[in-house]
Amino acid sequence: MMPIRAFGDMEPFKDWAILSVLVRRVWRGTLKTLAFGVNDAVWFALLYWIVIGAAVGSFVNVVAYRLPQGLSLIWPPSACPQCKTPLGATENIPIFGWAILGGKCKHCSTSISWRYPAVELAGAVLFAGLALHFQASFTPTSLVEMSAWGFFIAVLLALSLIDIDIMELPSELTRAGILVGLIFRTFYPIWATGLGNAGPPGLVDSLYGLLLGIGLFDTISFVGEKVMGKEAMGGGDAILAAMMGVWLGWQLLLVGLALGFTLGAVIGVVAIATGQLKREEPFPFGPFLALGGVGGLLFGEILIASYLNFI
Ligand SMILES: [Zn+2]
Repeated sequence: MMPIRAFGDMEPFKDWAILSVLVRRVWRGTLKTLAFGVNDAVWFALLYWIVIGAAVGSFVNVVAYRLPQGLSLIWPPSACPQCKTPLGATENIPIFGWAILGGKCKHCSTSISWRYPAVELAGAVLFAGLALHFQASFTPTSLVEMSAWGFFIAVLLALSLIDIDIMELPSELTRAGILVGLIFRTFYPIWATGLGNAGPPGLVDSLYGLLLGIGLFDTISFVGEKVMGKEAMGGGDAILAAMMGVWLGWQLLLVGLALGFTLGAVIGVVAIATGQLKREEPFPFGPFLALGGVGGLLFGEILIASYLNFI
């Protein structure tokens, strides 16, 4: 039997066998800590949705680029914006395709914006958040649930990018979000848990959310106009808030709006203080609302519970 060796006997970084055992132990420990007792099936589902999220991010890039120009979303396939050379199969792989090309077109070496891989990465991270939040698995109900919320996230991401680009929130996207949200929240609970056990009807909660979203924004706009004598909020913001209300319900919508307004105010003040933004200069508010909505979805219940504990 081999004697157990003390650390003192080990030549640092030369004894690879011991080093590899240590690395493996740390790695396994990290995985266990991360997993919180989550089993292998859930890990596999998480990985699956991360890959899907990156691919969805890739499509969101296409939507954000083409929808405002009225171009087809599915044809032609992705190409260099400068020389129109279509991307090859490996270059179309989310995140890595951009890295393989070194951020430049292979044909004309026009540099390709880092925003494309960043959005793909955001898709992967957001879908990972969804998979963990909803404990994703490969059951039919879980697949439908994840697809529906994935659609919601994708619409929010596309709206944010378009708002940053042209300061508009196209109603095609917000209306599609409202429609799919109403259908999902009405029928999914009945299908997933059975008609008798569905609990409070999702549709009612959705409609409260919708009304609250529109009502709150119209009130803010009305008061803002009276106080400042100019338009305070774009009409698109109200419809975006309504769409978020349909998906989140009125309670999580309130959390989402609070997060969004706080984030927007903080970033706005910092941007004005550092001279990035002039006073009175309009800036897109959609991305902050969308981020607040994602925060409300993933952390709203925890935030509400800890708030109720606190008071
Ligand atoms: Zn090119």
